[in-house]
Amino acid sequence: MTVTRFAPSPTGYIHVGNLRTALMNYLIARKSGGTFILRIDDTDPERSKEEYVDAIKEDLDWLGLHWDRVERQSERLDRYAEAAQTLREMGRFYECFETPTELDLKRKKQLNMGRPPVYDRAALDLPEAEKDRLRAERGQGHWRFKLDQERIEWTDGILGDISIDAASVSDPVLIRGDGQVLYTLASVVDDTEMGVTDVVRGSDHVTNTATQIQMIRALGGTPPAFAHHSLLTGPQGEALSKRLGTLSIRDLRARGVAPMALLSLMARLGSSQPVELRASVAELVDGFDISQFGSAPTKFDERDLFPLTARVLQGLSLDAVRPRIDAAGVPADKAEVFWLVVRDNITTIDEVDGWWKLFSEGAEPVIDPDDAEFVAQAMALLPEGPHDADTWGKWTAEVKAATGRKGKGLFMPLRKALTGRAHGPDMSQVLPLLQVIRARG
Ligand code: GLU
Repeated sequence: MTVTRFAPSPTGYIHVGNLRTALMNYLIARKSGGTFILRIDDTDPERSKEEYVDAIKEDLDWLGLHWDRVERQSERLDRYAEAAQTLREMGRFYECFETPTELDLKRKKQLNMGRPPVYDRAALDLPEAEKDRLRAERGQGHWRFKLDQERIEWTDGILGDISIDAASVSDPVLIRGDGQVLYTLASVVDDTEMGVTDVVRGSDHVTNTATQIQMIRALGGTPPAFAHHSLLTGPQGEALSKRLGTLSIRDLRARGVAPMALLSLMARLGSSQPVELRASVAELVDGFDISQFGSAPTKFDERDLFPLTARVLQGLSLDAVRPRIDAAGVPADKAEVFWLVVRDNITTIDEVDGWWKLFSEGAEPVIDPDDAEFVAQAMALLPEGPHDADTWGKWTAEVKAATGRKGKGLFMPLRKALTGRAHGPDMSQVLPLLQVIRARG
């Protein structure tokens, strides 16, 4: 059975980049009736915050990406200690005592000599007495996994055949001097013990994957199928990393983006398939095909989310938005007609407030000086309310007869005088909703 996981670290809010990872893993699981695990990577007690765990869940809920179960790495530390012990006994785990400064110096020297900055394994040769001395002097060492220096190969679901020379990669640190287990080990243990079959993550993890494949094998497991999606860039190809903070899911939500707009875009962006607006997460499942995604950086333009959101809104019935319409202050007997009139004219749902204000309080008229005379004449001909769907047609016919104006020269000054805007719903629909007409003077 297919098992996937989304494994955020609760050190911040999730953003569009994380969403891509979450969505792909979710869709793979759902497509095959498998399990989607939300794994909280919280082995770093200083940076992990409960508030972010809650926020991640809330954001996924809002998106409609429901998980089958939650796992927390902080509750599995004994499993990681056991795996570490196994690796130690196999001679694949060794203690090192270099300080960050010493490591930095080594790297600089290597780079100066034109060599790749790979850890030189000096700690492997430390005699026990020397280790004892260092431990007494510097405290517990950190622990590295000893890579087998062979080529590590896999067929990546997106990148195709990958081959990485383990000799070009530093032996990864899995446990810090203060005893903290690092993600690389925790992830390997979890993926193996939880039977994870498919891992999709960002291409910044490709080197991790190489080392993790060796670790999984060393621990007697079978590596899952890996796929690495390309990183998102801004519309000009610029790095997004600095801006991801403002592209958090909750930020986009606050800006009125509809979840299905976001999901529909992210399920296709960077693939050879066109973006198609879908009405539900379930509808995204069938068309999803990880092999259609390319390895080139994917351009993401948040502005694309707004026309898609507008289209989502156009398709919604009153029932789907009723609480929001109520909150805007629209009386129940006007809610249906109000929604049908405005839904084609809004980009985000929050714009209903402005429209209801306009209908209920009337708009500040916008009248070009050239049209002042004409508007005054027209207003004198406008019958007293209540108006109905026929009022606009009858009225403008009379105005046309009286003034000789027609077409846009007739309609536009009236629209602007009544609504203060040059665009909006059909005026024959607007007029019956308009409760105050300030242009009457
Ligand atoms: N916590 C890791 C991250 O957010 C998970 C990476 C993985 O999917 O293995 O980058």
